[in-house]
Amino acid sequence: MSKKTAKELKKELFYTNESSFVRMSEAETEAAYDFCEEYKSFLDDAKTEREAAAKAIELAKANGFSEFRPGTFYTEGDKIWFNNRNKSVILAVIGKRELSDGVRIAAAHIDSPRLDMKQNPLFEDGGMAFLKTRYYGGIKKYQWTTIPLSLHGAVVKKDGETVTVKIGEDEGDPVFVVTDLLPHLAQEQMDRKLRDGINAEKLNILVGSRPFDDSEESDNIKLNIMNILHEKYGIVEADFQSAELEAVPAFGARDVGLDRSMIGSYGHDDRVCAYPALMAILDTEAPEYTCITVLTDKEETGSDGNTGLHSSYLKYFIADLAAAAGIDPWTVLSASECLSADVNSAYDPNYADAYESRNSSFVNKGVCISKYTGSRGKSGTSDAGAEFVGKIRALLDKANVCWQTGELGRVDLGGGGTVAKFIAALNVDVVDIGVPVLSMHAPFEVVGKADVYAAYMAFSAFFNS
Ligand code: MN
Ligand code: MN
Repeated sequence: MSKKTAKELKKELFYTNESSFVRMSEAETEAAYDFCEEYKSFLDDAKTEREAAAKAIELAKANGFSEFRPGTFYTEGDKIWFNNRNKSVILAVIGKRELSDGVRIAAAHIDSPRLDMKQNPLFEDGGMAFLKTRYYGGIKKYQWTTIPLSLHGAVVKKDGETVTVKIGEDEGDPVFVVTDLLPHLAQEQMDRKLRDGINAEKLNILVGSRPFDDSEESDNIKLNIMNILHEKYGIVEADFQSAELEAVPAFGARDVGLDRSMIGSYGHDDRVCAYPALMAILDTEAPEYTCITVLTDKEETGSDGNTGLHSSYLKYFIADLAAAAGIDPWTVLSASECLSADVNSAYDPNYADAYESRNSSFVNKGVCISKYTGSRGKSGTSDAGAEFVGKIRALLDKANVCWQTGELGRVDLGGGGTVAKFIAALNVDVVDIGVPVLSMHAPFEVVGKADVYAAYMAFSAFFNS
């Protein structure tokens, strides 16, 4: 037997990961770009958790899904959706096998960092009207000044009626903005630490400057704004107290790069996983195992609250399915598997120090599997077992999915958690998978088109296994 050359042996023994564009055929690349056109529309149509939940239900209905009714015994091929308080949604396609064989879950979140209006937000100062905010999720506050913002959400009036608000998205709409100090007068501000550059209580959104009339009445500008809101929505100031109004970037998703290989947008985290997981369940017909996509809320604030995955709504949904089939819910959960879909931080050579390049994910090198997340000594993660990672690895390779592994930054620097640990707590096998993102949590995040498509391919392969 002739001795192998070093080059041959390297090819056989070493792990390498090329650009997905090198690995994919021309047709696959085209399919990826096409998929991303639809994704961009979704990004623009569904900027908040409420809008994403509504869009998911709209698409579910259009694809033959019906509303889940607890107590119903569902059979092979049935497609159902469950609306949890308009902010999280479960979609399921019933499989051929008994539920006792377990279900396949893809979980992603549809909330994104943003500025929430406080409960008494409207005030007048310096001849202008503003709305006071409290930021939601982890943001670098300076990034949220001097960009056009739109206002989205729901206002529940005293009589119980819910008014849906969306201002700043249509071409002719006005937008809003958080102002910042001019450089000429910013010497003191510029000397502060970056984290202290913008005070959270100064993230006030400019909403007006014109008085209601020429009288000497106080708060005349605030009155004019309240009057406009009253005429448009029939709301009074106290209605803000039972409202959820969110300011998000007013701009839409755009291709990034001369080669158009990337997408820039607000809220890729985590709609870049939610959208592929949603598309994968909508495309699933008569699977072997019952398949479930969960689009959850509140991940950015720790998954707490009854619309987040720390709550029992997913467990109850599965328990309801199990009860109707006469099976104990823990039997179903204990045999189940989950891809916990959330973004990873793509390696950024401009901030190379923050990463460990041998264990980072890279833009357009595939959807990223993270065996564990968390920080420092793996705190706050579920650390998927080698057996389950091995199973998913084989599944993705078999389906020809471009994938890579990656950790969130260098070990002692920081880190982050996902919903994986809450699903693991249900005794489900779970591993993190997701799309690498540049500038995560910024108003304009960037992802690679091949990775978005790879996420869709991964969920499809999982559901059809
Ligand atoms: Mn996320
Ligand atoms: Mn996040």
